[in-house]
Amino acid sequence: MLKRLLLSTLIVAGPLLACAATTANPASPEGAPDDYFHTGAGARYLRRADADLVVQPLRDNISVLMGSGGNITVLSGREGKFLVDAGISKSQEKLRIALEKIGPAPPKFVVNTHWHWDHTDGNAGMHAAGATIVAQENTFRHLTKTSHVNAWNWTFDPVPEAARPTLLVKERKTFDFAGTLVEVENFGRGHTDGDLWVYFRKADVLALGDTFWNGFYPYIDNEDGGSIDGAIKWANKAVARTTAHTIVVPGHGAVGTRTQLIEFRDMLVTVRNNVAALKEQGKSLDEIIAARPTAAFDAKWGNFVFNGDQFTKMVFAGL
Ligand SMILES: [Zn+2]
Repeated sequence: MLKRLLLSTLIVAGPLLACAATTANPASPEGAPDDYFHTGAGARYLRRADADLVVQPLRDNISVLMGSGGNITVLSGREGKFLVDAGISKSQEKLRIALEKIGPAPPKFVVNTHWHWDHTDGNAGMHAAGATIVAQENTFRHLTKTSHVNAWNWTFDPVPEAARPTLLVKERKTFDFAGTLVEVENFGRGHTDGDLWVYFRKADVLALGDTFWNGFYPYIDNEDGGSIDGAIKWANKAVARTTAHTIVVPGHGAVGTRTQLIEFRDMLVTVRNNVAALKEQGKSLDEIIAARPTAAFDAKWGNFVFNGDQFTKMVFAGL
């Protein structure tokens, strides 16, 4: 009965919550507004959500779900599921089916790694299915106010009551769940001002949210407390926490290793230093972009949401 009730809630909520999707028409940008949901990353994630989710089992009852916004990490136990990030509501029904295939217990906790839409839009659906939403205090602040992001040309309304985090973390909180210790931690400003990483100790799996994009230039939310130096600090923390045995889950991109995390950190450091050196010479942003400080990295890292010029702009804005 409960299950049927939840199912109907999810089915009813799905199309309503996904209405932003139907207005986006990224395939024909002519005349379409240049914003997050038409030409930006949001449009990309909405398009991706048309296809099937990919479920990748990792270790010790931990899996990753890909294809609903940012990557979703799932620890499944008899007492329920512990999720890292909520995906997007457009995939709600696909998420429900994928989660049920992993195990019958409902979601119990969902940690938002930060406030961005592609990691939190699924909060209401997860909450309706039984989950407590966990977030850093600043993520709560962003989700409960009107947030305009200039870089995305988009204003996000406060999320509805049912989508709001109710268990807030300042610096650290641990959970004893499904036979393992789960460590949820913040290290100050990074990708935003409210990032959390989630470390599943027994399985040695570290879910980093958007403080790690595996093989791609990351977004850095300079307008909301993020910066290149914050991103480097978080990458250094993650490198220090991991070993060759650790499975490292990025916010975007394939499940990775410590070696890939180190490559990411080194890319961030080199680009930062290249841009900073040009800035110290008194060069303008346009001159710095023209000098191509990311040239050595573009072929490998510039093939997802951001190319080298766009990443240079983000790095510059944070210095
Ligand atoms: Zn993000």
